[in-house]
Formats: sequence, structure tokens, C-alpha cells
Amino acid sequence: MSARRLGIFGGAFDPPHLAHVALANAAVAQLGLDELRVLPTGQAWHKSRDLTAAAHRLAMARQAFADVPHAVVDDRELRRSGPTYTIDTLRELHAASPDAELLLVVGADQAEALHSWRACEEILRLATVAVAARARPGVGAPPFDASRLPPGHWVAVELPPMPVSATQIRALVAAGQDIGHLVPAGVARYIARHHLYAPT
Ligand code: ATP
Repeated sequence: MSARRLGIFGGAFDPPHLAHVALANAAVAQLGLDELRVLPTGQAWHKSRDLTAAAHRLAMARQAFADVPHAVVDDRELRRSGPTYTIDTLRELHAASPDAELLLVVGADQAEALHSWRACEEILRLATVAVAARARPGVGAPPFDASRLPPGHWVAVELPPMPVSATQIRALVAAGQDIGHLVPAGVARYIARHHLYAPT
């Protein structure tokens, strides 16, 4: 019997948007995942902005990924005190399922910064990195710079270019503009109901 394939998809998800959902669906289908753990991050060590309260980001992630096959939203990083490190999560998941094959799903922006993450070499020992090109408004989706990760430690996930970011969505809400084309309907409703991202 072949090893269970467990995908790991972390993000601030502040808020989760349609590119996140598309990447999750693409990863499950293309990597043949038995399960995709979606992990909203605690206070990410590399992001300086204060994130929206964990309970809101968790609720939005549950809405956003509800229809992605095999996706399970996992709140372990939100329950951890102090900054979030991916290596801690990988160690925990590896200890819980030593025979599972771990695949760390990231956009190219994160893959290109991975060398600066805590215990990067151990990350690459524990998991294969699954990288999707990341489109930016006006820039298209430059291919992932493969020289940034050692060969044999990463695979590509094909994703149609989707130039959407959570930063852009927060700015649109703050400006009173529509975000219905950028986030799942349940997330749009949640943001409106809880007055998230509105100017104070
Ligand atoms: P922010 O604008 O606040 O920095 P974000 O849109 O980058 O947020 P994150 O929650 O930081 O969203 O991203 C989680 C993961 O999803 C990261 O691996 C990121 O590279 C990937 N990702 C986010 N948006 C896209 C996109 N448009 N295309 C491909 N990957 C994406």
C-alpha cells in the first residue's frame, strides 16, 4: 500500500480568497492528496502587520475551504503562543503520522523566501514543497525561480494566474468597494456581518 499523502497549506487567510481556494483544489487534485490540512497561522514571524483576531480568520477559513475535497481546517497554530513556525507543525504532523508523505503547499512568493524560514533544511527533509506560480496585478504570473529550492525537493502545482491578494481585499473593503468577485460568498457575508476591514 502506498503512503498516505498529506498536504499542508498555511496562511494568514486574512481573509481567505478565491486564489487560496483554487490553489487548495489544484493541490488536492494534482498531488493526489488523501488529506489537505489548512492551517491559519498565528502571528507569523515574517509579517509585521497585526492580524485579524484568530476566531474570525478560523471561521472564514472554515467557510472558504468547506467544499474543497479532503480539506480539513486545523487550528493548532492559532492555539500556539508566540510566533508561528512551519517547522513546529511539520514535526508534529510527522510525529503523528511517521509514514505519511508530507507536501507543503505554497505560492511562489513563499517558496522563494523559504530559505529564510526557521530550520529550512529540516523542512525540506520532512516535506516536499509544492509550488504554484503567483500572479500579481499588472505583472502576470512569473514562473517560480527553480534555483531557489534544491532539485528533488519541490514539485509544481499548475494554477491559472489569479492576481488576487488579501492585502488588496482589505484595501477594497476599507474603501467601501465590492469584493464579491474575489472571495467565496460565505466569506464576503462574514466580512460584512462582522464589519471586518472597515475603517474605524
Ligand atoms: P497578504 O496580501 O495579506 O500578504 P496573501 O494574499 O499573500 O496575503 P496568505 O494568507 O499570506 O495570502 O497566503 C497563503 C498562501 O497562499 C501562501 O503560500 C501564498 O503564496 C498563497 N497565495 C496567496 N495568494 C495567491 C495567489 N493569488 N496565487 C497563488 N498563490 C497564492
